Amino acid sequence: MLTIPTIKELRHHLQKEKEAGKTIGFVPTMGYLHDGHISLVNKAKEETDVIVMSIFVNPLQFGPTEDLDKYPRDIERDKELARSAGVTYLFTPSVQEMYPKPMRTKVVVEQITEVLCGLSRPGHFDGVSTVVTKLFNIVQPDKAFFGQKDAQQVAVIEQMVEDMLMPVTIVSCPIYREADGLAMSSRNVYLSDEERSQALVLSQSLFVAKQMIDAGERDASCMIKKVRSIIEEAPLAVIDYAEMKKYPEMADVDQLVSNEKYVIALAVKFGQTRLIDNSWFQL
Ligand code: AMP
Repeated sequence: MLTIPTIKELRHHLQKEKEAGKTIGFVPTMGYLHDGHISLVNKAKEETDVIVMSIFVNPLQFGPTEDLDKYPRDIERDKELARSAGVTYLFTPSVQEMYPKPMRTKVVVEQITEVLCGLSRPGHFDGVSTVVTKLFNIVQPDKAFFGQKDAQQVAVIEQMVEDMLMPVTIVSCPIYREADGLAMSSRNVYLSDEERSQALVLSQSLFVAKQMIDAGERDASCMIKKVRSIIEEAPLAVIDYAEMKKYPEMADVDQLVSNEKYVIALAVKFGQTRLIDNSWFQL
């Protein structure tokens, strides 16, 4: 594995790989790697020849009061994990490398970004779609791998790629969970033992919602009421949102109907830590 901090050098290597007929798989991350990230690398290895992973904590997607400065970082540990997972090129640009001058351009996906995390984190998805566009232009991957953990992000990226005719296939990969159900996240490291154990209500509430659907429930507000009541059983939980949306439009839902896809999306704070989780349903 080569660790490469500059755009120029990465482009040079990838040009050679493409000339040799290799397909490029790309896994963008913010680092502090866990098995969720590694599951994306494993999927990329099944589908492409050369694996590029980026580690870049993107200032554009953090609000002024968010955790940019304290976002967990451990590049030496990440290098080891990426190497043993089979990453070919680890791209580790600095903020200066990605944004040498103030940006005068941003990529904005409309509508899908106006609910859920887009409401709670104004500007977040503009930062995501802008940095992903830059990263796609640097790497020019055949396929890019994203986790369903960030369901709204997947919808935003797929919409952007479709609208802008970007020549890349987006592959979305299942949520990777701890044995007890907690969705893996770099931010889990912030949780105290008490918060960590109460955070299990997220996956538990999604599981109950799935059981309700399997048992024939079709009323979205009834399911969300149940989901909220389960989360509220945890005294430390402060719900940011708990909603059911039509996927991928992220439109409101009243009654579930056949052949449509839905997502129940949760964002819940435990102390200072905001966790997200979700579950998809297709009737
Ligand atoms: P992050 O480093 O948190 O920005 O995540 C980088 C990529 O890994 C995104 O596509 C995430 O959706 C994905 N990811 C993060 N956590 C998980 C997880 N638990 N399971 C699957 N994918 C994940």
